Amino acid sequence: MTHRIYFDNSATTPVRKEVVDEIMPFLTELGGNPSSRHYEGRVVRTAVEAARAKVAAAINADPSEIYFNSCASEGNNTVLRGYMMGLGKNAKKNHIITTAVEHPSIFNTAAALEKEGFEVTYLPVDEKGNLNLDDLRKAIKENTGLISTMFVNNEIGNIYPVEEIGKIAHDHNILFHVDAVQAVGKIHVDVKKIGCDFLTVSAHKFYGLKGVGALFVKRGRVLKNLLTGGHQEKGKRPGTENVVGIIGMGKAIELATAELDSEATRIATLRDRLEQRVLAEIPYTRVVGDPSHRVPTLSNISFRFVEGEGILLKLDTEGIAVSTGSACSSSDLKASHVITAMHGDPEEAHSSIRFSLGKYSTVEDVDYTVETLKNTISLLRSFSPIYDEFVNANKH
Ligand code: PLP
Repeated sequence: MTHRIYFDNSATTPVRKEVVDEIMPFLTELGGNPSSRHYEGRVVRTAVEAARAKVAAAINADPSEIYFNSCASEGNNTVLRGYMMGLGKNAKKNHIITTAVEHPSIFNTAAALEKEGFEVTYLPVDEKGNLNLDDLRKAIKENTGLISTMFVNNEIGNIYPVEEIGKIAHDHNILFHVDAVQAVGKIHVDVKKIGCDFLTVSAHKFYGLKGVGALFVKRGRVLKNLLTGGHQEKGKRPGTENVVGIIGMGKAIELATAELDSEATRIATLRDRLEQRVLAEIPYTRVVGDPSHRVPTLSNISFRFVEGEGILLKLDTEGIAVSTGSACSSSDLKASHVITAMHGDPEEAHSSIRFSLGKYSTVEDVDYTVETLKNTISLLRSFSPIYDEFVNANKH
């Protein structure tokens, strides 16, 4: 395949070579079931437990607080549904607070729980995508049992003040869940500093395999199981473990944590170069989100008068992968609920592109992308009746 530029690392990351090397023996020679007592089983069990210790170390948890599962969507469902199912519909603490900008695995789960009779408050965000903690304080009621917020937004990259939210939750005796999918491997994540009760992680966002995740459950906290079955994961998540996924996740998180600071600086420099050049060299462009509270890997930029989908498809033919909205919604053309929640401007919601850089991004990739974008945007604007109208209206 010809060289492609992959600026969609927030959707998923490629599996890194060290991870492939780590899992290879478990794909070939070491095929035991970690629950078996014989040698073949014990070897695999040891590797799974080593991976658990690595995941725990990366987020400052105890290994006994880590439960492996299939993905972060499962982790998020486990927390919301598990908490609510554990209460029963009529129990007193049947109110959840979350935000208007969550990933669909929270957003749609909360909406489903509402239909089942639970109460949900969705905190608004401002025009930069930030939360106002007074809104959170005001939303807390007698019956609030759970607060669930993301650490980092997947579409705009904003970092949310989870430590402050954790304090507020704690002061009111409310459990706190953090969706840290877009944070792990990009910024420091420390469950003790955050003071959370539950935290969701997914391996494929930091160069591990797809289809494996981990849920941190603070010791003493109980969630009702989504699945019934065997004794795996201390009976909390039955099903024979995704052994290679788990072992790969351990390796990936260990490497990502060790490289975190140096990679953050390197990638932020590239991201800033991309953003500054686009803003300077392409008119009517704007950064969406809050550049002062953002992960180093992401830039969301709106290109007025053109559809994001058009930009995405044209860039794809030029060898560049980007996304509009979140990957999960990029196959439906509804405006991003995140950008819509920020100021309700449907034009901006339709004309923004997420560039998410990663480990393999280079300065050449950035410069090629800027040059390609310049041509792409001027071509698409030349077909745009709204751009035409705008130009004519501004002629003297
Ligand atoms: N939460 C956030 C913030 C995400 O960005 C994603 C994936 O994009 C998920 C949850 C779901 O992760 P998974 O693909 O592991 O289900």
